[in-house]
Amino acid sequence: MYPASFEYLKPQSIEEAMALLTEHGEDAKLLAGGQSLVPMMKLRMARPKYLIDIHRLADLNYIREEAGQIRCGAMTRHIEIEESVLIRAQLPMLAVAASEIGDVQVRNRGTIGGGLVEADPCGDYAPVALAINAQFKCVGPKGERLIPAAEFFSFAYTTTLGADEILTEIIFPLPAQDSAGVYLKLERVAGDFAIVSAAVQCAVDKNGVCSAIGIGSAGGGTVPQKALAVEALLRGQKISPELLAKAGELIQVDAEPIEDMRGSAAYKKKALSAILRRAISEALRQAEAKRVS
Ligand SMILES: Cc1cc2nc3c(=O)[nH]c(=O)nc-3n(C[C@H](O)[C@H](O)[C@H](O)COP(=O)(O)OP(=O)(O)OC[C@H]3O[C@@H](n4cnc5c(N)ncnc54)[C@H](O)[C@@H]3O)c2cc1C
Repeated sequence: MYPASFEYLKPQSIEEAMALLTEHGEDAKLLAGGQSLVPMMKLRMARPKYLIDIHRLADLNYIREEAGQIRCGAMTRHIEIEESVLIRAQLPMLAVAASEIGDVQVRNRGTIGGGLVEADPCGDYAPVALAINAQFKCVGPKGERLIPAAEFFSFAYTTTLGADEILTEIIFPLPAQDSAGVYLKLERVAGDFAIVSAAVQCAVDKNGVCSAIGIGSAGGGTVPQKALAVEALLRGQKISPELLAKAGELIQVDAEPIEDMRGSAAYKKKALSAILRRAISEALRQAEAKRVS
């Protein structure tokens, strides 16, 4: 099916894109990689009158390390994140999350900004962003603001970004050198969205105590979650099999998975518990190996 007719606009700068978005308001949509928006337009589930193409804005395509952070421009493609030497060395679970998205065609076109703004409840970037407390830089008519990852996702496919705002940058604080991060995804077939997924970044001290931990998950509800209660349970503790089992129970308490073609709510709760325990164990193992190396 063809999309409804629209006017294609190609701004040369973020300022011009902002001005077009302000001028056309609800009638306009930003086009990034088009991997979610174009199918929606073909299905006529999205019918923007104006399509503002920002995917070639070079100002929004970069990966750089700065002041203890990795900063990614919103138009950085999934493949660039997956293959970035910097990200693989400093924040490997982000590269893994990017590599898990769809297939190579999707990763060649789709962008990190588009993936986050699309806010699919089972998207791959959100758990990583939540685990390490990433921040999202946005620009709108009132200027710039930073939205913490934990405040960005408000419902399925919905964020707290204003309709007149553009996500410009994703800021990932660099975890401590002796910590390790793991992203695990359970999917029906390769290239599918997650049934459930979990990202864990943690460190262990010389006594085997978990000194720092951050956890994000997806598939447990309409929005990806930062698992604050599980983090609190594990922080400062030596993690025994019993404690790990408790963590697996705790993540299920607040989970209200959506029942769909990927499984029943009951199955997803169990799967979330299992993938979380596996991700914690693996992150602890890697953190311990780093500490003694
Ligand atoms: C076959 C297939 C499989 C997929 N599998 C996965 C998967 O396993 N995991 C996963 O996470 N994703 C998956 N995706 C989605 C993919 O990651 C998309 O790239 C992503 O959802 C949208 O990114 P995009 O750059 O293509 O954005 P677009 O489709 O261009 O835009 C998506 C939405 O975000 C808005 N938007 C885009 N950029 C900005 C910005 N900077 N500021 C404000 N608004 C913006 C657009 O207006 C639009 O509403 C899949 C997609 C396909 C087609």
